[in-house]
Amino acid sequence: MHASERVLSIAANVARVQERIRQAAQRAGRDPASVRLVAASKTVEVARIRAAVAAGVRIVGENYVQEARRKIGQLGRTTVEWHLIGTLQRNKVRYVFDLFDMIHSVDSVLLAEELNRRAARLGRTMPVLLEVNLAGEATKSGFRPHDLPAALERLAGLTHVQVRGLMTIPPPTPTAEEARPFFRALRELRDQLQRQSGGELELAELSMGMTADFEVAIEEGATLVRIGTAIFGPRPGG
Ligand SMILES: *Cc1c(COP(=O)(O)O)cnc(C)c1O
Repeated sequence: MHASERVLSIAANVARVQERIRQAAQRAGRDPASVRLVAASKTVEVARIRAAVAAGVRIVGENYVQEARRKIGQLGRTTVEWHLIGTLQRNKVRYVFDLFDMIHSVDSVLLAEELNRRAARLGRTMPVLLEVNLAGEATKSGFRPHDLPAALERLAGLTHVQVRGLMTIPPPTPTAEEARPFFRALRELRDQLQRQSGGELELAELSMGMTADFEVAIEEGATLVRIGTAIFGPRPGG
């Protein structure tokens, strides 16, 4: 495919994904505006991200600080929101304030504390989501559900980190339908944590659902869907 054809297909892909988001929301009796698309653009070069933005993408999700830094340097920060959706190492925390509007992947209290320290020094506040490892996979980072109440208590004391909700990446399943129990579990966990806090906590965001299963995630309450392949095509080597 020529570069110009790829750019055209990105515009068509964005339109198709937005339509599928709208239909899934309507099926679930939800306002389509309550679901925001995050274009997951790891390994995707800047020209193709620009095409997605021209087609209406408003949030770009990157996995790696270094890669994001290079791309944001070229695309700028103002036309879209940039979200970090990949694992953040504590020694990279100092870079995130110039790059990201939200971090989906806070996976430990120590990381949140480091973010808070840096944010306080800069006079900033960072909105974050807590990544939850629902299936207890050893290879995946994230909070175990039973550790969340204690973690949230510690995070409540951090004045420069704002916990806005939860994020999860379920284990791969053969069909989208088989991912539903994980999405439902994240929503129920959120509801339970809010209830237990007696109205203190507001965890409005649920970041869940990718190309293979985002419609099911929307039916279960996703407010942020992170979609790469359906917009940009298959990634090299993946
Ligand atoms: C790559 C990635 C996505 C997008 O995955 P697709 O299957 O290509 O839609 C979503 N979330 C995270 C954390 C990712 O790393």
